[in-house]
Amino acid sequence: MKESYITTAIPYVNGNPHLGHTMDYLLADTLRRYMTYCGKKVRLQAGTDEHGSKNFKKAAEQGIPVQDFVDQKAQIYQDFIHSLGVEYTDFVRTTDPDHERRCQEIWRKLSDHIYKDKYEGWYCEGCEGYVTEKEYNENHGECPDHKKPYTKLSEENYYLRISDFKSRIREAIESDELKITPAFRKKELLNMLKDMPDVSISRPRAQVQWGIPVPDDDEQVMYVWIDALSNYITVLGYPDKDISADWPAHTQIVGKDILRFHAGIWPAILMGLGLPLPRNLLAHGWITANGEKMSKTIGNVIDPQEIIGKHGLAPFRYYFLRHASTTTDADFTWEKYEASYNELANDLGNLVQRLATLCKKNDISGQKVERVTNEDFDRRMEKYEFNFAFDILWDGIAELNKRIDAEKPWALAKSDPEKAKKVLVKLVVDLLSINDRLQIFLPDVSAKIQDIFTATEIQPPATPLFPKN
Ligand SMILES: [Zn+2]
Repeated sequence: MKESYITTAIPYVNGNPHLGHTMDYLLADTLRRYMTYCGKKVRLQAGTDEHGSKNFKKAAEQGIPVQDFVDQKAQIYQDFIHSLGVEYTDFVRTTDPDHERRCQEIWRKLSDHIYKDKYEGWYCEGCEGYVTEKEYNENHGECPDHKKPYTKLSEENYYLRISDFKSRIREAIESDELKITPAFRKKELLNMLKDMPDVSISRPRAQVQWGIPVPDDDEQVMYVWIDALSNYITVLGYPDKDISADWPAHTQIVGKDILRFHAGIWPAILMGLGLPLPRNLLAHGWITANGEKMSKTIGNVIDPQEIIGKHGLAPFRYYFLRHASTTTDADFTWEKYEASYNELANDLGNLVQRLATLCKKNDISGQKVERVTNEDFDRRMEKYEFNFAFDILWDGIAELNKRIDAEKPWALAKSDPEKAKKVLVKLVVDLLSINDRLQIFLPDVSAKIQDIFTATEIQPPATPLFPKN
């Protein structure tokens, strides 16, 4: 069977994981669970971007070998992803010898589109990036992120000739062969493509000591693009293996800030290799704190583990999957988080507790349900509107709460016990039916509810699913 392949962006490991990395993984995991639910075989990649002089410098500061430094970081990122309840099938590290060798093969295959040229201009060492004359003037010669003056650079580099592919990339985006979600980003990408220059893909070894050597040129080391972007296919075994069972990817998930690289440089690499483009690029927004971008300078960075520590993982997933839009920025505040937790406890936690208690009193045994389709739900999921799909489940939960209040099975039990039983069985069946889809968002909670209401004797949980604050 052909697999559905989902990818996440690989974070640069010079820092530690933070709330900003959360959406990538939660969205990928939700899509994976949905596709699995639909009977598909799914492969989900995650990984770490480990080369570059920043890591080299950080390791030197700590007095440890750079390989040890990135080994530690790769472990930290894997633990972080697991802590979000996210299950990947493949983890790629760019310092893995297989990845390095495969990147060199990819470079060789692209050689018709690679040329050497001299770069003269401004550079920020902190960003490890070139700075245009325009940026230099706008920022008065100093990097706003690093508060350090730009340095003048004159060096020879290899370039990837993006111009060889521009018109085909444009066509692919316009025709949705490479579909961009959200659609409003399509226009800005097409504009960006117009002015996109050829991109530098190497640095002199003197500049970047920690990187993959350019094949057949000892003086040059790969810089970012081929090394980092190729991870999506090297992890599948390209070019050693036939990857057609997995590639093209069903969905590549990226933050909005790196969409342009994935819609510009990455398609050029794929076209140069004669590989098909991914079918979908999903660009999510950022997580802000109290409406502001999180930054160390402002001091408003929130640690995801602190949020998870408050009420556990399910409320964390609930907040970011239901109250954060897939495609725009999402705001976090502790007030909103508490309100979201109370909603989860009141709407779902109470329902489970009440219904299970009534079932126990009236000797209702566990029920089995057939899966029913829900077209509205599927439509939302297929458009990556996960939060709206989640809303549909919540409407169903609200409906069940209303029904309990209106039908009063506790009163019926006295006047018409048979009818009370029927009402309760119907409530259990409908809850299980909603719960079947809840596994896509809150797998652990869904499993508990499944256990409670399919058991031979229905028993309320000893402790509520979501204890009161
Ligand atoms: Zn900088």
